[in-house]
Amino acid sequence: MKDHVPLNEAHLKTDLTPSSSLSASSASKTKPVKVGNVTIGGPEFAVIAGPCSIESREQFFETATAVKKSGAVLLRGGIWKMRTSHQSFQGLGPEAVGFIREVLDHTGLQLVSEITDPRQVELLDPLVGMYQVGARNMFNYALLKELGQTRKPVLLKRGFSALVDEWIKAAEYITIGGNQNIILCERGIRTFETSTRNTFDLNAVLVAKSRTSFPVVVDPSHAVGIREFVPKLALAAAVAGADGLIVEVHPRPAEALSDGFQALTLEDFRKLSHDLERVLGALDRTMLKPV
Ligand code: PEP
Ligand code: MN
Repeated sequence: MKDHVPLNEAHLKTDLTPSSSLSASSASKTKPVKVGNVTIGGPEFAVIAGPCSIESREQFFETATAVKKSGAVLLRGGIWKMRTSHQSFQGLGPEAVGFIREVLDHTGLQLVSEITDPRQVELLDPLVGMYQVGARNMFNYALLKELGQTRKPVLLKRGFSALVDEWIKAAEYITIGGNQNIILCERGIRTFETSTRNTFDLNAVLVAKSRTSFPVVVDPSHAVGIREFVPKLALAAAVAGADGLIVEVHPRPAEALSDGFQALTLEDFRKLSHDLERVLGALDRTMLKPV
């Protein structure tokens, strides 16, 4: 017996023929998602950057202005963190809202921030351009259904032990409330390999792009967990046809309250943007420009 009938066929492709091209044409079946005036899933490659956690006004302001200058079109930053240990920094929570608004107004960038509990919608909805669902919450169907009730885009990270099929079905939980604005994000999976934080599954990007019409982006920061390897994986994802990436950046990674070991410096990020432009250019693609 068939145990699952897709609730929304609009985003599921039946044609599994692999794309024959490395160029933007493979993205032509993707239905773009708009985050404010930023289009993800169109011909241009979108870069989302910012700190793992929002730590202070100064740190967030400095990072935001620098990543915008270097080509980021959306700003990431965690307000609530899902940390493995409850003793680790849990995020600033509501106390950060005032200065976050100032930074967004100053830069004109929209915020991408993780929602860890449905009760945060009230605070986050006016603040974020796009909700992030973290790897640990991909299977939190109550949260996904709640986000289906909003019309804000949702960046749905793949759970670190989730099959691609489970990841796509998690996206369908959001669509049942009528919210079709979903972007899938591959962020590495847990395998037998322990020499890197996770194993970057570029296969999954290709499968998700061929099986759905959701834009697919990558998070090379969590996928590898080692700063010096992040840019190369970002470039590989661009070559493979990802629609964009989300990357962690910190002005002083050694002082970061979370994930400093994988954060790019402001200068690393500037170089990555430059290299992305060149690599995308060779494939007749361009990087989306900040507005
Ligand atoms: C993050 O983006 O900081 C994060 C916690 O990511 P993930 O949910 O992929 O672990
Ligand atoms: Mn992080």
